[in-house]
Amino acid sequence: MSERVIPLVDQRTAVVAAQVPAAPIVPGGQLRDRLARPLRDLRISVTDRCNFRCSYCMPKEVFGKDYPYLPHAALLSFEEITRLARLFVAHGVRKIRLTGGEPLLRKNIEVLVEQLAQLRTPDGAPVELALTTNGSVLARKAAALRAAGLRRVTVSLDGLDDAVFRRMNDVDFPVAQVLEGIAAALAAGLDPIKVNMVVQRGTNEQEILPMARHFRGSGIVLRFIEYMDVGATNGWRMDQVVPSAEVIERLQQHFPLRALDPTAPGETAERWAYEDGAGEVGVISSVTQAFCGSCNRARLSTEGRLYLCLFAEQGHDLRALLRGGASDADIASAIGLIWQGRSDRYSQLRGQQAPDASGGGRRVEMSYIGG
Ligand code: SAM
Ligand code: SF4
Ligand code: SF4
Repeated sequence: MSERVIPLVDQRTAVVAAQVPAAPIVPGGQLRDRLARPLRDLRISVTDRCNFRCSYCMPKEVFGKDYPYLPHAALLSFEEITRLARLFVAHGVRKIRLTGGEPLLRKNIEVLVEQLAQLRTPDGAPVELALTTNGSVLARKAAALRAAGLRRVTVSLDGLDDAVFRRMNDVDFPVAQVLEGIAAALAAGLDPIKVNMVVQRGTNEQEILPMARHFRGSGIVLRFIEYMDVGATNGWRMDQVVPSAEVIERLQQHFPLRALDPTAPGETAERWAYEDGAGEVGVISSVTQAFCGSCNRARLSTEGRLYLCLFAEQGHDLRALLRGGASDADIASAIGLIWQGRSDRYSQLRGQQAPDASGGGRRVEMSYIGG
C-alpha cells in the first residue's frame, strides 16, 4: 500500500505542533537554547501583505495577483499577539519589533502598539517597542503610532535616486513620499529613527554615498545591510552582495569614521561614528560576518508560528495552543521547550560549508516572518 500523502494547504514551510512538556517550564528570564543563547528579542510579523514588490524580498513574478495570502481568520488577533508577547517577556524578551510584510497595512495597528506598550518586564521596565516599515504610509500614521506608545521606528529606504528607488520597490513608488514619512516620524517625536538600506551590487551601490551624505548630521542613523539569501524566491547570488567592509571603506574615503562599541549584547549592527561629530552610521554584515553566536532573536509569523532563525525551514504552531484553550502556563512551557531545543546558526554554517548548509528544505520567506 502506498503511503498516504496529505497535501499541505499552506506551502510556506513545514509546520510542527508545539508540545506542552510534562514538567512545566516556568518563565524566569533564565531560558537558554542549546548553544546557551538567551531569548531577548521578538519580531512579530503582523501581515504577510505588502504594497511594495522589492525584488530581493517579494519579487513580482512570485508575489503576483494570484498569490495565496493568508485569510484574515488565519492571522493572530491583536489580543492573541499581546497574550503571546506577554509570555515571551516573562521568558526574558526585552525588545519587540513589529514587522511584516508591511506592518502599517494591518488595520488599526496603533491599537496593537497600545496594547504592547503596556507590557512590563519582571522588574517593571517597559519593553523596548519598535517597528520596521517601508515608510509609504508613515506620514499618515506617525502621530497615531507615537500617541499609542511607539518610541522607535526603522524605515527601509534603498536609495535617494528616484528612478533607482522606483525600480527597486517595483511599484513605481517615489522616494519623496518615504522622505515625507521620515519627516513626519521626526515631527511626531519618534526617537531614535533608523534608516535601513539593503545594498545590492550593480543595483544601488552608487547610492551609498548620497544616502550617507543625506542622513549625516540629521540625528537619523543610517544602516547598510548586506543583501541576504533569505527565502527561496529572490534568486540570490553571492556576487550581488556588497560586503560591509567595502561599504565602510567607501565611506572612509569621504568621511573619516571611528568604530564604536556595541550598545547591547547580540546587537546586529556594527556602529561607526563620523569623526567630525555628524552622528553615527552602521553596517549589518549578515552574510560576511555571521552573528549567530549571540543571536537571541525569535520570530513570530502572522499566523502564530514561532521561527527560531531567519533561515528556518519549519515553524512551531503556537496558534493551535492559543485557539485550543491552553493555559498561559502551558503556552509558556511550550515556548520554553521550543527555545531549549534551538541550535540554529545558519549564517555561521553558510560561511563554513558553502553549498547548502540549510539541508535543502524549503526556507521561510522574509515577507512572512519579517526582517
Ligand atoms: N516592509 C517593511 C520594510 O520593508 O521595512 C518591513 C518588513 S521587511 C521584510 C524588513 C527588512 O528586511 C527591510 O529593511 C528589508 O529591506 C529587509 N530585507 C528584505 N529582504 C532582504 C534581503 N534579501 N536581504 C537583506 N535585507 C532584506
Ligand atoms: Fe515589502 Fe518590506 Fe519586503 Fe519591500 S522589504 S517587499 S517593503 S516587506
Ligand atoms: Fe540568528 Fe539564524 Fe541569523 Fe544566525 S542565521 S544570526 S541564528 S537568525
